[in-house]
Amino acid sequence: MTTDQPHILLLAGTFEARVLAKKLEEKFSGVRLTASFAGAVKDLPDLGVPTRIGGFGGIEGLCQHLQTEKVSLIIDATHPFAAQMSWNAFHAAERENTAILRLERPAWQQAPNDLWHPVASMGDAADAIPEGAHAFLAVGRKEIATFYRRGDIIGTARMIEPPPVPLPSYWSIVLARPPQSAEEEVELFKEKGITHVVTKNSGGTRAYAKVEAARQMQLPVIMVDRPDLPSTDTAATVNGVLNWTDRFMNT
Ligand code: NAP
Repeated sequence: MTTDQPHILLLAGTFEARVLAKKLEEKFSGVRLTASFAGAVKDLPDLGVPTRIGGFGGIEGLCQHLQTEKVSLIIDATHPFAAQMSWNAFHAAERENTAILRLERPAWQQAPNDLWHPVASMGDAADAIPEGAHAFLAVGRKEIATFYRRGDIIGTARMIEPPPVPLPSYWSIVLARPPQSAEEEVELFKEKGITHVVTKNSGGTRAYAKVEAARQMQLPVIMVDRPDLPSTDTAATVNGVLNWTDRFMNT
């Protein structure tokens, strides 16, 4: 395999990126494809394609990587809250004149029976929890410490790996990926005595069960809006990315 072939850098970390790796490999068999993970989670899925793990070293580091690896297309399939990576990719692509496409799954929309309280940031979410609440915090291991200042609530936090700063001693932690059924979430919320749910508006189906469970139990959901993302070309689905890539490869 030579470095003169088209080279796609797939910024991974989502379920869609996993599906994309397989489909890109199938559809563009002559094209070099490399996936990239931040490496925050230890049990990374095997995408079945060459994979690198760890940050690039900001915009400069990514520019260097694009040059060295002769990347012709970046597909940004990171999580909608991984805004730093998306902005770095946007700026590096601009500097290196590299094509870029972001897979942006649609945000969740409030249904008629949902009791949503939208907020703009994790800090606002922490402020929005009422005194005495038992909050289910599905906010990520990096962001959980924002909630520790709320000594007047109880938190149950779910995350895949433990946080860098341990939870307050009287809070509880569930180390797991989100379940796929609302029934499991209802069971957990009942067992813990959850009164409020705090979540990022991640979109997609993989983390939606908690929102459905909250609807069924008529629990208020403090919904953290997505951060601003760069105005690159976007596709909402895996198929959309494949079609865009097809056009790109044939121009
Ligand atoms: P971030 O704040 O956008 O990224 C921080 C740094 O991590 C980036 O600047 C980059 O380091 C590195 N990085 C991120 N994604 C990378 C990738 N695919 N390949 C190589 N390096 C990558 O994102 P985050 O800290 O990972 O997460 C922010 C939020 O997104 C959290 O709420 C998290 O729960 C959620 N999330 C992220 C991912 C993910 O795969 N990133 C997956 C699920 C959920 P350098 O600047 O050194 O290049």
